[in-house]
Amino acid sequence: MTSTTLDKDSIKQKYAQERAKRLRPDGNAQYLALDDKFPEMAADPHMPVKAREPVTDHVTFAFVGAGFSGLVVGARLKEAGISDYRLIEKGGNVGGTWYWNRYPGARCDTAAMIYLPLLEDTGYMPSEKYVRGPEIRAHCERIANQYGLYDRALFHTEVNTIEWHEAEQVWRIRTNRGDDFTAKYVGMGTGPLHVAKLPGIPGIETFRGKSFHTSRWDYDYTGGDADGAPMDKLADKRVAIIGTGATSVQCIPPLAKSAKQLFVFQRTPSSVDVRNNHPIDPTWFKSIARPGWQNRWMDNFVENTGGGIPSEDLIDDGWTEISRRIREKALKGTPLWLAKLGMRVHKALKRSPRQPDLRRLRSAFEEADLEKMEQLRPRVDAVVADAGTAQKLKAWYSQLCKRPCFSDEYLPSFNAPNTTLVDTNGKGVERIDETGLVANGAHYEVDCIIYASGFEFGANFQMKSGFDLKGRGGKMLSEYWGNGMRTLHGMQVHGFPNFFSVQMNQAANYALNIPHNIVDHAKTIAQIVKRAEAAGFSEVEPTREAEVAWVDLILTTGPSLIASPDCTPGFWNNEGQGWDKKFRQTQGHPGGPKAFFDHMNRWRAAGDFKGLHFAKRGRAQERSGRRQ
Ligand code: NDP
Repeated sequence: MTSTTLDKDSIKQKYAQERAKRLRPDGNAQYLALDDKFPEMAADPHMPVKAREPVTDHVTFAFVGAGFSGLVVGARLKEAGISDYRLIEKGGNVGGTWYWNRYPGARCDTAAMIYLPLLEDTGYMPSEKYVRGPEIRAHCERIANQYGLYDRALFHTEVNTIEWHEAEQVWRIRTNRGDDFTAKYVGMGTGPLHVAKLPGIPGIETFRGKSFHTSRWDYDYTGGDADGAPMDKLADKRVAIIGTGATSVQCIPPLAKSAKQLFVFQRTPSSVDVRNNHPIDPTWFKSIARPGWQNRWMDNFVENTGGGIPSEDLIDDGWTEISRRIREKALKGTPLWLAKLGMRVHKALKRSPRQPDLRRLRSAFEEADLEKMEQLRPRVDAVVADAGTAQKLKAWYSQLCKRPCFSDEYLPSFNAPNTTLVDTNGKGVERIDETGLVANGAHYEVDCIIYASGFEFGANFQMKSGFDLKGRGGKMLSEYWGNGMRTLHGMQVHGFPNFFSVQMNQAANYALNIPHNIVDHAKTIAQIVKRAEAAGFSEVEPTREAEVAWVDLILTTGPSLIASPDCTPGFWNNEGQGWDKKFRQTQGHPGGPKAFFDHMNRWRAAGDFKGLHFAKRGRAQERSGRRQ
């Protein structure tokens, strides 16, 4: 079907109706943080907490979070000669989100060739195009072992406070395990989605059966394991799962195979495209794995998906297909050489390519999207036998309103006789009581409720990280960011010397391969720390002027094509509550992820650390780079 044969107006009208049904005035306040409200449900089901003595020493670099960020920054700092690097981690081992998320079927939707960091450095070949959770976790352990990152690591440890001590020019870090130590530098990579949340459904605390969040999967209760052994203990259980996002799309197929009865409570259906996974052929891998291959692949993905005009598509997956469709519509027969020339002209004029092209891009996006969604909806009819169920599983919004999902197993699960879709018409579960759930006025008695309800996203820094940072002059980071985030490059903050935050806001936001941003930040951090250590500096932080200029640049970012406020609500678009200035300040580089990475490449290559202020002990000020 082409866009010319579509009844665009009636489709858009349907989108608006579905959005209106789902919109709630309480926005992000509808959720409950797992740790606060149900600490027993938040406990680590994967590893017992080991007794240990508190540490009271000093390290050069302490990093909060042992996921990809802490691991890659650690690897690069070890290479830069920092031998005393300490990871501090809430979980019992490295892996971050992949430590916690061991639900059955867990797998990454981004191709492993670009998603798994340091493949070249570790010489590891992924087994499949999209690898499973246990393989990702094992890769994290491989990195930690190779770079000696276990040496000083503190696991099952949560930071309580981090305070800058001006006299000694160190950070003092205290934890819930009684640790009280200092570090010259502090890094933080706690991940965008690490505080599990529950739906604030009335009566949630009254349920007498078993319940858990997908990031705390209880295999003691279900049987089976994260490697895919069947969940035999569910054979006599009636199970409810709340939520139909990316997690559910993966764990519903194994649940449908194991449970006596499965009720899937849906508020908004996910869009589900084909998966097409396949094993990686070692001969092929050898042929492409030449020095520099992983950077080349990462760059190629961002060229394809983050604002470039690529000559080839090495990754060729669902994400690059979405971008290709939009680009083809936007260019409409313009030869590639001419499009590339156009990009160069925009660059030379120092104009963001988004500004002049925005209207054209927007209409190309809309056309490509309508066509795509008109393919995905009939896919549901083709796979799901019951016409009524199929109708309810169709997503009526634009594909990038919510996180697109890819699975060849999810939709067929609804053909299993033990699996029932309970669609709540955008309203969600009404009530939970001692024995089950109420939706659409009907009561469903169950033995177990699984919450696939996602993670806090719109919460403030302190809530998401679990601690606050006290910088120069006793200023708290949550206070400094009270009216919106302020950084240089999404990473360093004025008044918080020797601090590095590894995350996407004000950086490569919406980079569809999140590790690319981590790998890039790690390079920058290692270069800055190396310079400070080599020259004997005791402090480094961005100047106020550089920070203001960076935030001003971020604020020029136009409304994203991804997750617009007009979309059906969800965590990607601030629950449909609109974009205030504070929310706009969480956006990325106005030119998109590719422009951010290009900027950082130039910044690092210049070697003058423009915008940073290095100082020696005793505050003898020494400036590096031009003061802005
Ligand atoms: P999501 O936030 O995407 O989904 C939560 C689900 O819970 C939604 O379907 C939501 O409905 C539903 N929900 C919330 N409250 C209620 C309620 N009161 N009644 C009924 N349903 C309710 O969380 P996920 O864990 O699925 O995914 C989070 C993110 O993690 C993904 O977006 C992705 O970035 C990442 N991820 C990546 C994976 C991959 O690579 N394959 C796999 C899994 C996760 P509604 O949509 O209406 O809000």
